[in-house]
Order: sequence, then structure tokens, then C-alpha cells
Amino acid sequence: MAIEKIVIVGGGTAGWMAAAPLSRMLQGDRELSVTLVESEAIGTVGVGEATIPPFRDFNQALEISDREMLSNVQGTFKLGIQFENWGAKDDRYIHPFGNYGYTIGGLSFHQVWHHMKKLGDNRPIQAFNVETMAAYFGRFMRSEDTQRDDLPPVNYAFHLDAGQYAKFLRRYAEARGVVRKEGKVCDVSLDGESGDVTSITLEDGSVIEGDLFIDCSGFRGLLIEQTLETGYEDWTHWLPCNRAVALPCNRDDGSPPPPFTRAIAHDAGWQWQVPLQHRNGNGHVYCDAFMSADEATDILVNNLAGKPTADPNHLRFVTGRRKKFWNRNVVALGLSAGFMEPLESTSIHLINTGINKLIAMLSLDGITEATRNTFNRLTGKEYARIRDFLILHYNATKRDDTEFWNYCRTMSVPDSLSEKVELFRTSGQIFREEDELFTETSWAAVMMGQGIPMQGNIAMTNTLERGKTKSELDEIEKSIRYFVQHMPPHAEYIAKYCPAP
Ligand code: FAD
Repeated sequence: MAIEKIVIVGGGTAGWMAAAPLSRMLQGDRELSVTLVESEAIGTVGVGEATIPPFRDFNQALEISDREMLSNVQGTFKLGIQFENWGAKDDRYIHPFGNYGYTIGGLSFHQVWHHMKKLGDNRPIQAFNVETMAAYFGRFMRSEDTQRDDLPPVNYAFHLDAGQYAKFLRRYAEARGVVRKEGKVCDVSLDGESGDVTSITLEDGSVIEGDLFIDCSGFRGLLIEQTLETGYEDWTHWLPCNRAVALPCNRDDGSPPPPFTRAIAHDAGWQWQVPLQHRNGNGHVYCDAFMSADEATDILVNNLAGKPTADPNHLRFVTGRRKKFWNRNVVALGLSAGFMEPLESTSIHLINTGINKLIAMLSLDGITEATRNTFNRLTGKEYARIRDFLILHYNATKRDDTEFWNYCRTMSVPDSLSEKVELFRTSGQIFREEDELFTETSWAAVMMGQGIPMQGNIAMTNTLERGKTKSELDEIEKSIRYFVQHMPPHAEYIAKYCPAP
């Protein structure tokens, strides 16, 4: 059946992130409509403010500049995530967005660094990463702001007010022809033969027909689960946190926003701190088998950097993924597709890659089995690779001070992860598989940051000439130090580049 009417159910981050790029398809000759239904009475999940670098590509594809987007969403820059108390209590490390150094003699930089360390070079690996050094000093600058091409590139993402971002995309999508309907979906009709969704009915009785439905209705999965009963793969045994309490606070203490997210581990979970221009986003993610909601809220309230600006928002979730992301004529995006953990800010990214794949594969002549299968297979692989990376944070710990951490430290993990860890231990090697999101530096940063040692003698390091390698390291360190010294403080950069209007 030809695709002429696309219906998006839900107007949170996922709904409007789907609507914006689809709106660009309404400019052509072929008849196509996009309708988005959302319910103000139901509202959105109200969290999700930290992004990762590919998010920049999403905005660029919409021809939205960093500057325009950031000033509309009171955003700040993010160079990585600082993990505190994860490998052990009082430990901290930064998972940076850019690379450690660069490949030398066919070896990854962390392998070279490890080799030189064994030979007596005591410089920390952080000295060879521009994002980490800039984060430590609270500085920021984009590579394109310098006139020099001999400095390391700065890889960055954003912290943003998610509600403002959805409004911003709404303006974009509506200006290009997307029709928004306010109302609560109370009924869904299916085709008796194919089982496809044919229409949704709103509480006021209006019926919206569609050929393709995008389910962005959040955790409830109104179409993908409540209607089509697609099923859910539960990953609680690997990612046990199942609750969160979110509580924004003001920035009245005058401290400048750091250019990184903080992820602070507590007794049965962890707390995020996301700095925006006008407030901090805060939340405590925890597992209710090990901690009550009151305890979790107290911990959060006692660790806020400012005064709360709202009431605590309590959320429940089950980590995992929908068994199919595209079922019949329904594609699930956002929380209705699955949810793993906000730990590495991957949910908005998965919305982004989901919509990219959908747009790339969408034929207006109709939906084929091959399209659905490919979409499901690729998305499944993406989820699995991210899942492994997240599990690593919980499992690679020495913490034995609470029942929660004892569970995480001793739980069995997927073979795909244990092999990755084993390979790193013996050779420091990390293979990026199947187009996975996280880079060698990401894996190395978390593995080293959480205390997994590189033990073996890596054969290829025998090819390195010591004096020459040391000079290369000196050069990298020097250029990073120079660059960071010439960066302005993050707050100053924001005030000039993208202040709130
Ligand atoms: P929602 O925001 O829940 O939107 C659902 C929409 O569907 C709403 O508009 C609602 O009105 C509508 N709707 C539902 N039912 C009906 C109905 N019957 N009729 C009409 N409309 C209906 N992601 C990140 O990338 N970075 C982070 O830092 C991050 N932090 C997070 C922290 C926590 C604790 C959680 C739980 C998630 C976090 N996420 C994060 C995930 C992120 O919040 C979501 O991916 C993102 O907000 C998308 O949500 P959504 O649009 O799928 O769902």
C-alpha cells in the first residue's frame, strides 16, 4: 500500500525529532502528509538533557546551526562525562568524546601509552586528550574557531533543555507543513486482514487515518505494545536500575557550568548533573530492590548544587528493548522502542539513528518485509552494543560496600562483553564491531577508568622506537596544552556564542 499519510503518536523529544526531518519531505510533488498527535494532559517524560556528538549531525541535516539551537534551548557544551565513585569509591575519570592522541605505528594510542608507561613515562593518559584537559580546566572552544589546523580536533555535544528543544523542533516542523493535533488517543483500529494499524481515534471523536504510524508515545508504547503486543526483551538482570527521581535546581550559586556531565555513583545507582545556562538538571537513577524512593530522593536532595525549581519527578522503567522496533506498519522510536539507561546519554542518539534509518529506507510505494527486517536487525545490533558498554560501567568495579554493587560486580555478563574485556586485558586491543557507536577511546577510557588493567606484552609494540615515540607523545601533549591554554572559560564562550535570547 502506498504511503501517503504518516501519523506520529507522541510529541516528546522522539515525536518532534521524527517530525522535523519528515517535514522536509513535504516539499516535493508527491502527495504526503505528516500529522503529529500529542496530549498536553499526559505530558512528556520531562527528562533527557544530555547528548552525544552525532546529535550535531542531526541538527546539521536540518540546516540548524549549533548557535541557533543552543540559544533556543539554553544549552551548554559537553566534552564528555565525568564518572565518580564507579570503579571504586572516591575514584573519578572522564569518558571524553574525542580520541586519546592518535594511532602510532599501527597501534592504538592507549597501547602506545601503556608501552611507554612500562618504560617509565609517568604522564597520565588524560594529558593526551584535548576534551579531558579542557574539561578539567572548565574551558571550551570549537576547532573551527581557531585558524590553525595543527591542533587536535575538539569533539563535543550539548546539554539542552529537552522541553525547549521539542518546542524548537515543533516550530521547525509546523513551518514546513506538519499538522499537530492536540488530544488523547483513546482507540486504535486495525485492518482485519493485514493487522496493520489503519487509524487512531481521539477523545473528541476525531479519527486520524494513516498508512505509516510512528509510535513515539513513550514507555507505554501505545501502538507497538498496547495495540500490536510486540513483546519486550527485559535486560534488568544486566542493567538493574529501574527507577529514577529527577529534580532540577537553579544555578544561583554563581558557579560556571562545567563543559561535561557528572555521573556520580551512589549506594544503589547513580546521580546525573547536567549543567544548562539557567539551571542544572539532576536525577538519581536507582534500583528499587536495593533502595526505597524516599532514600533515593534524600540522597538526591542532599547532593544538589542549588535550590530545587520543581517537585521531584518519580519515574519507573524496565531496561531492555522491544522485540521488534518496526512491526507491521508501526515504527517505534524513543522510549516506546526501549530504554537502557541514561548513563551514556544514548537514548536521544537512538531516536536520531532510528529516524535516519527510517528515512533512508522509506519507500512511498509501501512497506516491504525486507525493509522491516533490515530496520529491526540493524537497530537490534545497535542496542546490543550500547547495552554491553553500559553493563561494563556496573560490572567493572571493585566496589563491595553495598548489596547493589556486590550484585553488579558478580553478575554474569553477555559473552560479547566478556570477550571484549578479555581482549583488552591481554593486548589492549579494542575492535569496533558492526558500526558500533562507541569508539576505541570510549571503551579504553571506561575500562581503564574502572580499573581493568592492560596486562599483556603487545607484540606490535616491539616495532616502536623509544626516542621517536617519546617525541611524538611530547608533541601531542604540547599541542593540547597550548590549545587548552588559549581556550576561553566555558561560560565566557557561551555568553559570546549562544546566549539565551
Ligand atoms: P515522552 O517524552 O514520554 O513522550 C511521549 C509523548 O506521547 C508525549 O507527548 C505524550 O503526550 C504522548 N502520548 C502518550 N500517550 C498518548 C495518548 N494516549 N494520546 C496522545 N498522546 C500520547 N536520553 C538522553 O539522550 N540523554 C539523557 O540524558 C537522558 N536522560 C534520561 C533520564 C531518565 C531518568 C530517563 C527515564 C530517560 C532519559 N533519557 C535520556 C531518555 C529521554 O528522556 C527520551 O529518550 C526522550 O525524552 C524521548 O522520550 P519520548 O519522546 O520517547 O517519550
